[in-house]
Amino acid sequence: MTRTVADECDVLLRDGGVAHIRPLRPSDREALHELIDRSSERSAYLRFFTGGAATAHACVDRATGPGYRGHALVASVGGRLVGVAEYIPGPDRPEAELGILLDDEVHGHGLGTLLLEHIVVDAAEHGVTELVAFVLADNRRMLRVVEDLGLPVTRRYEDGCVELRVVPHPTAHLLAEIEARAHEAERSSLAHVFTPGSVAVVGASRDPRRIGHRVLRNLVDSGFPGPVYPVNPRAAEVYGLPAYPDVASLPGPAELAVIATPAAAVLGVARDCARHQVRALVVLTAGFAEAGGGETERELLRVCRDAGMRLVGPNCLGVVNTAVPLNAGFLPGRPPAGPLGLMSQSGAVAAAVIERAGLLGLGVSSFASVGNKADVSGNDLLEYWEDDPATRVIGMYLESLGNPRRFGRIACRIGARKPIVVVKSGRSASGDRAVRSHTAAAATPDVAVDVLLRACGVIREDTVQDLLDTARLLAFQPLPAGRRVAIVGNSGGPQAMTADACERLGLVVPELSPATHEALRARLRPAAAVGNPVDLTADGDAGDFASAIETVLADPGVDAVLIVYTPPFGSGLDATRQAVADATRGAAKPLVACVAGHDDLIDGRVPGYAFPEQAVHALARAAEHAAWRARPVTPPEDLPGVDLTAARRIIEADLAAHPGGRWLDDPTAARLLSAYGVHVAESVSADGPETAAEAAALVGLPAVLKATGPALVHKSDVGGVRTGLQTPEQVRQAYREMAARIGSAMKGAIVQAMAAEGVEIILGGVAHQAFGPLIMVGWGGVTTELLADRAFRVPPIDRAEAGRMIAELRCAPLLHGYRGRPEADVPALENQIIRVGRLMDDLPEIAELDLNPVIVTPGGVVAVDARVRLAPAPQPPSLFLRRLR
Ligand code: ADP
Ligand code: MG
Repeated sequence: MTRTVADECDVLLRDGGVAHIRPLRPSDREALHELIDRSSERSAYLRFFTGGAATAHACVDRATGPGYRGHALVASVGGRLVGVAEYIPGPDRPEAELGILLDDEVHGHGLGTLLLEHIVVDAAEHGVTELVAFVLADNRRMLRVVEDLGLPVTRRYEDGCVELRVVPHPTAHLLAEIEARAHEAERSSLAHVFTPGSVAVVGASRDPRRIGHRVLRNLVDSGFPGPVYPVNPRAAEVYGLPAYPDVASLPGPAELAVIATPAAAVLGVARDCARHQVRALVVLTAGFAEAGGGETERELLRVCRDAGMRLVGPNCLGVVNTAVPLNAGFLPGRPPAGPLGLMSQSGAVAAAVIERAGLLGLGVSSFASVGNKADVSGNDLLEYWEDDPATRVIGMYLESLGNPRRFGRIACRIGARKPIVVVKSGRSASGDRAVRSHTAAAATPDVAVDVLLRACGVIREDTVQDLLDTARLLAFQPLPAGRRVAIVGNSGGPQAMTADACERLGLVVPELSPATHEALRARLRPAAAVGNPVDLTADGDAGDFASAIETVLADPGVDAVLIVYTPPFGSGLDATRQAVADATRGAAKPLVACVAGHDDLIDGRVPGYAFPEQAVHALARAAEHAAWRARPVTPPEDLPGVDLTAARRIIEADLAAHPGGRWLDDPTAARLLSAYGVHVAESVSADGPETAAEAAALVGLPAVLKATGPALVHKSDVGGVRTGLQTPEQVRQAYREMAARIGSAMKGAIVQAMAAEGVEIILGGVAHQAFGPLIMVGWGGVTTELLADRAFRVPPIDRAEAGRMIAELRCAPLLHGYRGRPEADVPALENQIIRVGRLMDDLPEIAELDLNPVIVTPGGVVAVDARVRLAPAPQPPSLFLRRLR
């Protein structure tokens, strides 16, 4: 197994501080002896080592000396070595003895747990089946550290000592525990950013045009309740507050420092902050990685990490938390309070979104402009918003996804409670067209982002306008239970447009129930049309709106109500808004309004949209998200005939012979696929017309002849495929013609039996470096690229999802007996999709895979052309190892 334990990493502690973890080096010897001396008198009982200080010193000599058999990790905080964990495998037993020693001063910060997590993963990767630790019986702290880890522990008492045994097998439960601890640490560390008790503004200028002045003014004007310290060496007072020459001179601690000095001064200021217990920095100053200053930015991060400070920016607009209230940024205006947690990688986009959100009645709970994302990223903010009570919906403007896999896991968890709406720019970035498989060519990075976001329930929007439209529905209204919409309005045109938009975006405008009809008839004026849409006509007044809304809300066949009001007809704008407010109070179903020409929020909870399409768009997104939340989570299907060991053996052997990876030859590809029960047509190789004719007799006539050769990628393009060969003579003849046409690129041929007539589907997979595997199903055959009719998913894929992938294709009707065709074996195709998904998920070394075509007939499926590329795959960083980027 490839090593995934990071050589060195920074990790958040429980209280939000930062520790550095790395393997022990011989040069740590002195620091370790000091560590023992520091802790020996007071806390011999806090150690794993049972023999007291003398033994501990001996342990250090052994661990830093030659021939050490153990594995040891050390942790430092603020540059000081404060903890060590080791395990020593027994000479001929798979179990290993575990020891941990921590500095007294760092107890209670979760450092013991962290070291243990890391050492457990290391032990598991080195084949250790059991870790044994001897702990003094009154060492409750250590006992708890081991027992709370998240792995089953057995204990045995003997002579005042407890023998603990832990199986270091990474389990789902352990992962959940680790993620819970990571979450806690994230939240604590970002609390220093979003809810600081005191703030210093370094570079607080007297010039009202300067950023350093504007941020101070915003901070003061926002009503921040704690002390605010302007730092300015050339002023005694800024914006009415006494100023201080530097951080060292502040009269009290500053939990957060906002830095707006020139770029050249930032590092020095950060070091000052580090020395004076500042816990977080927001660096507004530009001129770092974005302007060729990558080295300085790394140094800035280093300073922050060593001091346990979180860093927002540099090159950002600042942070806002309306609940404090805290406005530590230089956005114009005052962000109004509300339920939207907002993150933006672009300051300019953020300014526009906040401005607009305010006008729409959608305020901001907290906001961070992350700038260069040197430290705090979108993933960290998601963790913060997860249990921030003021945040009900999360909006993100992203230009890049730093760690898509981690994003996926976090977003999936949070999206189950708070919807996440994302605008990700860079859609036009094209994929690597040089790749040879259709699947890899189609799965551009943008497609990958799309599929990843969809898999974890994130709502992706194309524009920030759409983001706001969707977010305000999600923030103020419940999710719809289904897609059935009742439309109530007073004007035919907009209602028709609404109904059209519903159909286009996947919502349904159903017939209302007979009871609803009757009730509407009884309550509305005779001219009203009581179908769906319910048309109150231009005479319909506020009372009619209220009656109609109440009535359709009560129809069990309706999941959401869309009100379309065109002013100034009926009772006019105000009275109608009031009627909508009254009729919808306490409704359990979502309501949206289109008040022609007006974007707003009725009664602080019913979003109003200027145009029908906006309202329908938001509702459709909400319905999709609701469907994602309600998706059944099925345990992985048992797939008979899947042989992981066999597949792994084939891959290892091939990579050993071709260390850089390669396109597999046909027989090897077929063997690999067969190990997962993927049906590939039998192929017999031939090296001339005679052997080809013999091969045809073997596979059965009619036969197919295909040229082979490393340079032949798309064989039909060069006349390298002949189908429907009826006799041995035709096979011979075809071989001769093919050889003459293709020439030296043809190294031989394969012969296959002709598959029955069926639908040609492409089934493929690609391993994205950052995103992991993706699976594609589409219209196949030689014209696959032409129609680009495809569906993508992240594996694992269950049967229902495979069915949905097929249903998404425009060519799907061909499989279901289109115009007198026979019904194809769709379940067999689903089965193949699931298996290819499992294969790609299990074996990251499969870089590209194209089955094109898979021929789907009434009697089953068979892939007649299989191409597989292997490549050595670096193991992605283990999810079990908490670490900062
Ligand atoms: P390439 O993709 O390299 O051009 P394929 O092996 O996919 O070559 O063959 C091209 C086309 O020939 C397929 O899309 C399919 O229509 C047809 N074909 C190939 N093999 C068979 C077969 N065994 N039975 C029926 N048709 C086949
Ligand atoms: Mg093909």
